[in-house]
Amino acid sequence: MNESTRISLERASELKSRIEDYIQIRKQIPNGLELEEEIDKRKKHILSVLGGTEENWNDYKWQLSNRITDVDTLSKILKLTQKEINQIKEVEGQFRWAISPYYLSLINPEDIVDPIKLMSIPSFIELEDEQSDLDPMGEEFTNPAGSITRRYPDRLIINVTNECAMYCRHCQRRRNIGQKDCQQSKEVLQQSIDYVRENTEIRDVLITGGDPLTLNDSMLEWIISELRKIKHVDYIRLGTRTLVTMPQRITDEFCDMIKKYHPIYINTHFNHPMEITKETKKACEKLANIGVPLGNQAVLLNGVNNDKFIMRYLNHELLKIRVRPYYIFHSKHVKGTRHFNTSVDDGMEIMEYLRGYTSGMAIPTYIINAPKGKGKTPLLPQYLISKGTDYIKIRTWEGEVIKVEDTPAKDIKSLIKNTLA
Ligand code: SF4
Repeated sequence: MNESTRISLERASELKSRIEDYIQIRKQIPNGLELEEEIDKRKKHILSVLGGTEENWNDYKWQLSNRITDVDTLSKILKLTQKEINQIKEVEGQFRWAISPYYLSLINPEDIVDPIKLMSIPSFIELEDEQSDLDPMGEEFTNPAGSITRRYPDRLIINVTNECAMYCRHCQRRRNIGQKDCQQSKEVLQQSIDYVRENTEIRDVLITGGDPLTLNDSMLEWIISELRKIKHVDYIRLGTRTLVTMPQRITDEFCDMIKKYHPIYINTHFNHPMEITKETKKACEKLANIGVPLGNQAVLLNGVNNDKFIMRYLNHELLKIRVRPYYIFHSKHVKGTRHFNTSVDDGMEIMEYLRGYTSGMAIPTYIINAPKGKGKTPLLPQYLISKGTDYIKIRTWEGEVIKVEDTPAKDIKSLIKNTLA
C-alpha cells in the first residue's frame, strides 16, 4: 500500500466513525414511508368512523369537509381519557382546532407525546401561556392595502384566506386563523392586486393565508392569472401546508392549471420525518414533474424536532421527495404556542451539527424573525475566528483552527490593460 492510499484509508475510517451514532439513532425515528401499513390500518378505522370510502379519502374536498372538529368524533378515533376530552373542550373555546382525516391517520395512538399529535391535537398547556402576544410581528402595521403584508422593499404577501386543512397547534399566524373559515372577498383581493400593479418595485409575490390551497382552482387561477398580467412581477410563490396535511389537494387539474403560469414556486412546511408518506411523496413529485421548485420551511419545535438527528433525517428525507430544505424558523412567542418554544442553543446545535456532517443541499438557513416586523435574520455558528491584514483564521466543521491567506482584490481592469499595453 502506498503512503497516499494509507492516509486516505485512515481518513475514510475516521469519517465513517463520525456517522455511526446517526445511523443507529435514525432507526428509532418514526418515518411515514416506513410505517405505511400502520397508517393504512388507521386510515381504514377513520373511514369506518366517518362513513367514507377509499375514493372519498383521495378527494381533497371530502378531506376538507370532513375535518375532525369535535371531540366526540375524535374520541371515536383516538383513545382519549375523560381529562383529555374536558381539556380539549376548554381549549377550543379560545383556540380553534381541526384536523384532516389524512393527518389524523399519522398519529400513533399509543404515544402520548407523539410528534404528530403534539402538532395537531389541542393541549391544555395552550391556555397556560399568559406572557405571549397574538401578533408579535406587528403584522397589523404592515398592511398598506387589501389583504397585503409588506415588510421588505421588493416583495410582499397576499393573504387570501384564513382557512387551513388543519389548524396546527404551533401556528405562528394564529391571529389570522380566528374562529371561522373566511376567504377574502374578491373586492379585497382586487385591491391587493391593484396595489401590486401600482408599485413597480414589487417583483415577488407570495400568496398565503391560512392556506391558499383551500381555495378552489378557479379562484386560485383568477388570482394567479391577474398577477401574471403584471409585467414587473417576476415570479409567484405559494405558501401551503396542504402537501403535508392534505396531499390529496395536488390533483392533476391543479397541476394543469399551475403549469400555465410559470415561474411558480411552492414553499411548504414539513417538521418531522413522520409527515413524509407515500401520499405526500406523490404530491411533491407531481409538482416537481411540472417544474415547480419546492422548498421547505420547518419550524423548530420543542418536543417535535429540536433534535439534531431528527432534523438531519428530515432534511435527507425531504431531498428524496424533491423538496429542498429552505428555512428552519426559530418559533416566535405567539400566544398559545409558548410550550413549543426552544432556546436558540437548540437551533445553533443543529446548524453546527449539519455543516460538514451532511450535504450542503440538506442545510437550510436558520432564521429568527425580529419582533415587530423587522424582518428575517439568519443565525449561524461562527466560522470566521479572526482577521489580520493579509490572513484570516477560520474554524473548520471539525473544530480545527486554520490560517488562510486573505488579501484585498486588485484592480483587475488595470491589470489586464497593463498586460496588453
Ligand atoms: S397550515 Fe400554516 S397557517 Fe394553517 S394553521 Fe398550520 S401553520 Fe398555521
